[in-house]
Amino acid sequence: MSDEKVKGAGKEPLERVRIGLEVHVQLKTNTKLFCTCPTDYRDAEPNSNICPVCTAQPGSKPNGLNATALDAIVRIALFIGCRVIKGEEVRMLRKHYFYPDLPSNYQRTSLPVGVDGRFASIRIREVHLEEDPGRYELRDGQVDYNRSGIPLVEIVTEPDMSTPQEARDFLRALSLALSYLGVARDEPGSMRCDANVSVGEGTRVEVKNINSFKGVYRALDSEIRRHRRFQRFGKRVVRETRHWDEAKMITIPLRKKEGAADYRFIPDPDVPPLVIDNALVTRLEEGLPERPTEKEARFVKRYGLDPYTSSVLVLDLEVADLFEKVAKRTDPVTAAAWLKDELRRVLNYNNLRLSETTITADEIVEVLKLFRDGTITDLTARRLFEWLAAEPRSIRQLIGRLGLGRIAGEDELTRMARQVIEDHPKAVDDYLDGKVNSLNFLVGMVMKTSGGKSDPKLTRDALEKLLGAERLRRAGDSVLS
Ligand SMILES: [Zn+2]
Repeated sequence: MSDEKVKGAGKEPLERVRIGLEVHVQLKTNTKLFCTCPTDYRDAEPNSNICPVCTAQPGSKPNGLNATALDAIVRIALFIGCRVIKGEEVRMLRKHYFYPDLPSNYQRTSLPVGVDGRFASIRIREVHLEEDPGRYELRDGQVDYNRSGIPLVEIVTEPDMSTPQEARDFLRALSLALSYLGVARDEPGSMRCDANVSVGEGTRVEVKNINSFKGVYRALDSEIRRHRRFQRFGKRVVRETRHWDEAKMITIPLRKKEGAADYRFIPDPDVPPLVIDNALVTRLEEGLPERPTEKEARFVKRYGLDPYTSSVLVLDLEVADLFEKVAKRTDPVTAAAWLKDELRRVLNYNNLRLSETTITADEIVEVLKLFRDGTITDLTARRLFEWLAAEPRSIRQLIGRLGLGRIAGEDELTRMARQVIEDHPKAVDDYLDGKVNSLNFLVGMVMKTSGGKSDPKLTRDALEKLLGAERLRRAGDSVLS
C-alpha cells in the first residue's frame, strides 16, 4: 500500500484493496488419491501412470482414500492453526465442469477438513482435499492423464491481504511451513494459486493459474491497477474469472465467474464419507515439527544469533538442522555466519540441496576448527566449502590432495619471503630508506607466490625479520668499508 500511497499523494486516499488466496499444493504421496498409480508424472511417459480409475473409465470405482494424503492434510490444517473437523462425516463432493483434462467431467473435492485457522497474520477460512486434473496442451490438443488423481490440498484464506507484497510474503511463509512438514511435493509448479481481488466497494475478480511467487505479485499488481483505472473513469469492473498471462504480464478474461450452483456439487456416491477421529488428530498433532517462526526465535534465544542471521538459517530446514548439530560443538555465532554465508552460497551456486551433498556436521566442525587454530586461512575455508559441496571427500583428503594447508611452516614461508626480497631490490631499498608502504607491496608479493595460502600476519613478520637482518647486514657492511 505504501507505494500506492506515495503515487496517490495529493489526491483523495485510495480505496482499500482486499486480496484472498486459494492455494493448491500437490501432496507428497507415492500413489494417487483413489488408485495405486504412481505420482511421478513429470519424468514418466505421457499417459503411462494411468488406470481405469484415474481416467474415469465406465464401470471403474475409486479405491479407498489414500491414507498418506489424509495424514498430510490433517497435519497441514493443524500446522496453520485450523480446527480439524473431528467425529463428523466429511463428504467428498463431485464438482462438475467440462474440460479435456477431466475425463469424468467432475473433480473430486472434499468438504473442509480444517477451518478457522490463522497463519502469518492471515485468517485461514478452510483446508480441504482435492484431486488434480490431467494436463491438456492447448497447442497440440494432447492430453496427459499422468497427473489426473494426484492428491492436492487447497488452502483458502480470508481476504485479509491488501497488497501484492503481503500476498507474496504469505505464500513464501506457507511454502516454508509446508517444507518443514515435508508433506508437499517440492517441484516447480507443485504450488498453484488463484487470487480474489476487490478494490473498495468494487466487484471481486478471480485471477487463476498463478504459478510462482513473482507471478502472484505481478498478477495482483496488474489487476489492482486495472481496477483503479476502471474506477477513475467511472466504469464497472465485471465479476469474472481472469487468467494471468505471465509472458504478457496482464490478466485476460477467462469466463464469467461461476457460482457454486454452476458446478452442481453433489456428494460422490462412490466415496464413503471420511470421519477423522480424535486418536488420529492427537497422534498427528504430537508429531508436528517446530514452526519456522518458533525455530527462528529459539535460535536467537538459545544460541545468541542476531535475528537476521536466524531468519536466514531457518529458510532451509536442512541447513537449520545442520546448524544445530554444529552449534553444539563449536561457537554458534561463528558457525551460523559460515553456514548463512558460505554454505548457502555454494548450495545456491551448485543448485543443490544440502541432502544432495555429503556435507556433515563433522566436516563443518573440522573446517571451523582448522580455521580457528590457524591451520587454514579464511580463503581456504571458503574453498573447502565449495569443494565439499561439489565432491564427496573428507576435509583432510581435500587439504592433503590440494595442498591447501596454511603455509605456516617457517621454512617455506621464509624461503618465499627471501625469494621475494631477492626479486624486488628496489622495494627493499625503499623500505630500508623509510618508505614503510613498500612492506605492503612485499607482503602482497609473498601472498601471491603462495596462491593466497600464506597468512598475512605471519608473512609480514617473516618479511620484517628478514628485512631487519638485511638492515643490519648493510649497516655492518658500511662500518666495515
Ligand atoms: Zn490410476
